[in-house]
Amino acid sequence: MVFLHMIDLEISNSFYNSLPKDSIEDNYTRQVNNAAYSLATPLSFPKSRLIHISDLATELGFTEKQIQSPEFLNLFTGQHPYPETKSYAMAYAGHQFGNWAGQLGDGRAINLFEIIHNKNRWAFQLKGAGPTPYSRSGDGLAVLRSSIREHLCSEAMHHLGIPTTRSLSLSLSGEEVLRDMLYDGNAAYEKGAIVCRVAPSFIRFGNFELAAATSDTDLLKNLADYTITTFFTDIKSTGKDAYLQFFKKVTDRTLEMIMHWQRVGFVHGVMNTDNMSILGLTIDYGPYGWLEPYDHGWTPNTTDSQFKRYRYGAQPEIGLWNLLQLANSLFPLIKDAAPLQDILDSYKTNYQVQYLELMMNKIGIYHAHNQDRDLIQSLEEHLHLHETDMTIFYRELSKIHIETSLDNAFAIISVAFYNRKHLSDLHKDAWIRWLKDYLARLQFDVEQSVIDNIAFAKARTKKMNAINPKYVLRNYISQLVIEDAEKGDYKLLNQIYTMLQNPYEEQPEYIKWYALRPEWARSKVGCSKLSCSS
Ligand code: AMP
Ligand code: MG
Repeated sequence: MVFLHMIDLEISNSFYNSLPKDSIEDNYTRQVNNAAYSLATPLSFPKSRLIHISDLATELGFTEKQIQSPEFLNLFTGQHPYPETKSYAMAYAGHQFGNWAGQLGDGRAINLFEIIHNKNRWAFQLKGAGPTPYSRSGDGLAVLRSSIREHLCSEAMHHLGIPTTRSLSLSLSGEEVLRDMLYDGNAAYEKGAIVCRVAPSFIRFGNFELAAATSDTDLLKNLADYTITTFFTDIKSTGKDAYLQFFKKVTDRTLEMIMHWQRVGFVHGVMNTDNMSILGLTIDYGPYGWLEPYDHGWTPNTTDSQFKRYRYGAQPEIGLWNLLQLANSLFPLIKDAAPLQDILDSYKTNYQVQYLELMMNKIGIYHAHNQDRDLIQSLEEHLHLHETDMTIFYRELSKIHIETSLDNAFAIISVAFYNRKHLSDLHKDAWIRWLKDYLARLQFDVEQSVIDNIAFAKARTKKMNAINPKYVLRNYISQLVIEDAEKGDYKLLNQIYTMLQNPYEEQPEYIKWYALRPEWARSKVGCSKLSCSS
């Protein structure tokens, strides 16, 4: 056992200690029965090197001296285990693209340990540190491009106020990894990388689905009881009632997470049930993307280009479909379909209410009016008329006030249009009509308000800008970061990471990233198209 001098953690391995371990301890690919996890040790990466450490390190209490120490590198690239801990891979199953896929599991994620810091539980997991019993035909490794995307985006989402798994560190593994990026027979070697992900728990809907599908009711009950007593501590009852309360909370959290995605234009890309966190965290950053032109039908994932199951506009509905799979899995513990159905129905009702509220907040109207649904529906139709940048549109909209003339209002929003020169007169007239209704609607809000016009306008801009980000991780920005990093230049990575820590602030020093997607990125791989190869 390696003794660590610099880093002293309050270890609390609740998952490992509470749930059944696979009785086979060797690390080879197999079907695993009656277990929640299997032991798995990271490969040795003697040439590994840290290239970025997020602020999470400081949040978790690591000092600068510890972060700089070889122990930190060795721990978070899996080179040395923490004393008296054993690393492991979780067993889970899932529905992929609507079809039952059977056992999946952590094929390239290895869990190190859990700690308690300031009374909060954090589990540490390496992604890309080598194969596990769940690797099937995969190598358990990850490439630099996808690891940069995961590291940057998880931290960006956190700073946008969106529930997510976090990323502590990004390292080069020092090894090369063979990948066929476009699945077109042109495999090539790429730099390997390891991300250290951190979350209270990495349990997914799929963990429950595996237990249910193998009719292992003991494991299912164990998993549910463990999850409730560790993470849903306000549930005080037991038995059927506790499981129903649990399902209701997961349902509410899932909807809350997806509403945040809709708010900022995040498209997950692979909402398979194995990629749905039981804690309602955004998890598994693969071929995700950010809406640039507003388009309900858009998905960045080329693997999904035929049916676009996971397109932006379908995310709320897919959340419900995934919850239905979870309900089916929990059924053996509840044995009563009606209350489960009621909870699923509550998702639909809450979605309607929350979507209206979200859109009202996004466009800065606050006093309910019976025309609001129409105004919003009409806005969405208008946003589809001509390519309009989602982020820029909502951010600019906060500059429109009741005194703004129609011409000025149109000039304000038109910076969000792609190919502005080609905007037809028909579309321009349509927008003018919408803006007229919008200005009238703002007038209604002002009349309900007790403060004067100037104070009202100021407060409204501030409120709108607190939920409509100025900076998001546009796909082409990630691509530029990746191209530099592949050449060993991490300046842009650092810059973009810093910018995304304050996504709602004006940050004039980063203004060049508040711009329409450049034309070269329209169809470039990595910018508008991403495969699952990672
Ligand atoms: P994903 O689509 O990334 O959520 O992955 C689906 C399943 O494939 C999960 O069980 C992953 O652990 C597994 N997987 C993905 N990539 C690899 C890889 N390179 N090696 C082993 N397993 C992998
Ligand atoms: Mg996954």
